[in-house]
Amino acid sequence: MRGDGNLPPVAHRVAVLGSTGSIGTQTLEIIAERPDAFEVVALAAHSNVELLAAQAEQFRPGVVALIDGTRAAELKERLPAGVDLEVGSDALASLSSEGDVVVNGVVGFAGLGVTLGALRAGRRLALANKESLIAAGPVVAPLRDTPGAELIPVDSEHCALHQCLRAGSPERELAELVLTASGGPFRGHSPAQLATVGVEDALAHPTWSMGPKITVDSSTLMNKGLEVIEAHELFGVDYARIKVTVHPQSIVHSMATFRDGATIAQLSLPDMRLPIGYALAYPERLDSPFGALDLTTKMHLDFEPPDTQAFPCLQLAYHAGTAGGTAPAWLSAANEVHVDAFLDGVIRWQQIAELNTRALECWDGAPADSVEAVLAADSAAREVARRLVAA
Ligand code: NDP
Ligand code: MG
Repeated sequence: MRGDGNLPPVAHRVAVLGSTGSIGTQTLEIIAERPDAFEVVALAAHSNVELLAAQAEQFRPGVVALIDGTRAAELKERLPAGVDLEVGSDALASLSSEGDVVVNGVVGFAGLGVTLGALRAGRRLALANKESLIAAGPVVAPLRDTPGAELIPVDSEHCALHQCLRAGSPERELAELVLTASGGPFRGHSPAQLATVGVEDALAHPTWSMGPKITVDSSTLMNKGLEVIEAHELFGVDYARIKVTVHPQSIVHSMATFRDGATIAQLSLPDMRLPIGYALAYPERLDSPFGALDLTTKMHLDFEPPDTQAFPCLQLAYHAGTAGGTAPAWLSAANEVHVDAFLDGVIRWQQIAELNTRALECWDGAPADSVEAVLAADSAAREVARRLVAA
């Protein structure tokens, strides 16, 4: 993979938070290939002691964090000399100012401290954790002006848009953004079929291999809804100009259409190592470890409108985004509770959308004008969601 003349000019010191997950392990794979360009300075996981210890052994960061401290003593025993250990939920925020690039690969609202901490510390934030930006967009926005701070999206659609927008100015020349969705495992299913789908069906994503939460979100199109809000927050484009199209091959990762009718699209094989590598090395590009498309061979690229009847979560996210304030935080928190309940076998798949709808109806209309307001919305929405699940 190492390519002559393709070295980022500055070697990056990287904190990989959520290092044991799908994004985290793929980030470390890229870093392991390029010891000349990247050095791991911090790692963090929730409770996977085995993998975290193995990663510490391989990458020798200065510090690791374990959020769930139950097995902290065991981890401490297994860490090589010179690797410090921090324990508990505050450790995430503390590690988010390590290095010069912080990869936020934590899942869910728990990643908020990393997003805020990295930007406050003036680091480059390579953001996979969309939930933090969706919940706290208005709080995150001013932090992007911190000297040195930079937010590069890792989510493949937003990384694609980041690349497309290099072709023109979003403020003056952009007409609309078009996010692509694979459609997930249940694309084309009838309501009757959807009534009987189970956890294993929802976890069988046709084109991407990801952690369980985002895989379930992809099956309900909640992921695409959350990504609409993410695009609004990242690029400052109003909701009326953010569109979604279903593209089952997952080759076109998203598109930007400009005033003159030109559409710029980013195409590549569906592999998260491209957006992760892009965010690590930007504005340079790394050699691909997995090849590139061969568009000289016969190939079909299909596009179709999403089925908003069968997958109501997409429109629900537009409602929450347009309502503003803490509505996105509320919806995202309720969705986390409902996805967990689905994964635990407590509710059916269709109830995720039903309960998300009912939870959003209970939103209290609060503004998202401080971190405290966002935290309060998150916990109030979780309380509402837990009551709905229990009922
Ligand atoms: P995984 O479930 O695979 O990994 C989650 C990571 O977060 C693990 O390292 C886990 O540690 C850690 N974690 C879980 N809970 C906490 C917590 N409370 N505090 C600190 N760390 C915690 O998720 P993914 O890698 O799939 O997703 C991560 C984020 O990236 C999500 O926001 C997702 O939406 C986004 N994303 C993911 C994509 C993908 O391809 N996977 C694509 C686009 C976006 P442990 O292993 O110890 O539990
Ligand atoms: Mg995505």
